[in-house]
Amino acid sequence: MTIIIDGKEISKKILAEIKAETKLLYNRYEVKPGLAVIIVGNNPASKIYVKRKRQTCQSLDFYSEDYDLDESITEKELLNLISDLNNEPSIHGILVQLPLPKHLNEKKILNFINYQKDVDGFHPINQASLLTNESLILPCTPLGILELLKIYNIEIEGKHSVIIGRSNIVGKPLSLMLLRENATVTICHSKTFNLEHYTKQADILISAVGKPQFIKENMVKENSVVIDVGINRLEDGKLVGDVDFENVKNKVYAITPVPGGVGPMTIAMLMKNTLLACKKLSL
Ligand code: NAD
Repeated sequence: MTIIIDGKEISKKILAEIKAETKLLYNRYEVKPGLAVIIVGNNPASKIYVKRKRQTCQSLDFYSEDYDLDESITEKELLNLISDLNNEPSIHGILVQLPLPKHLNEKKILNFINYQKDVDGFHPINQASLLTNESLILPCTPLGILELLKIYNIEIEGKHSVIIGRSNIVGKPLSLMLLRENATVTICHSKTFNLEHYTKQADILISAVGKPQFIKENMVKENSVVIDVGINRLEDGKLVGDVDFENVKNKVYAITPVPGGVGPMTIAMLMKNTLLACKKLSL
């Protein structure tokens, strides 16, 4: 029987562990992990993500600061806010929800966050640390995927991992993290010729494209592991991944559903990174 990888359940356990450690930390040192969550404008999807992150912070008894900024904010004003947060001892993590409105230079803003408080793991210093195997703060989605593979005892070493998508937040860092686990890694993207040729060889297939029904049954290898990172909202409001779940699930050894797979793990890893940053900066 196919294993349906339950990211929701696993993330609950991880969050319970984080909550317990947060309590210990407070009892011993009177320190609470502090996360500042910044959202600019009214992107409906971003608002949902931010709401979830803030609720999770509360449920863990983290200290959190919410910044809901008007679409018209200038780059200078936003940089000033980040500068204040960079210097604020009660804040250990700064999260700027993406995408930002067009007049704000996303790269410049993300790079301005103190890399030790960059709990998303997007800062060039954190990203570069992956290349040198130092791994300062690791990006949340790839970290969550690795956790799932480990918790389900899915062997990575020597396995052919095929990643579709080369973004800085999923595909690229994930490729390095899998490489470090001794996988053989192939990265495919929008310019790859004959995608199926690669996906059919994958022992572990990871799709981070953002297109519903993109991965069909005939594209996957029998008894492989399929990780669906995609989040796509259909016209009827239903949330689906990149994978044709109903048909693919019958062919594979294990698969993540959407929702309830990678998504909840990403938030759990964000909280884990905030706790780690807190310990590093405060103790
Ligand atoms: P992106 O949106 O920046 O880019 C998409 C990637 O898909 C690109 O690298 C592109 O080369 C590739 N691609 C596009 N068309 C392709 C094709 N026809 N064949 C092969 N490759 C193709 O990537 P992203 O920010 O990593 O997001 C990808 C998806 O993952 C989105 O649906 C996003 O919402 C979702 N996502 C989910 C989580 C989570 O926590 N579950 C986190 C981040 C992103």
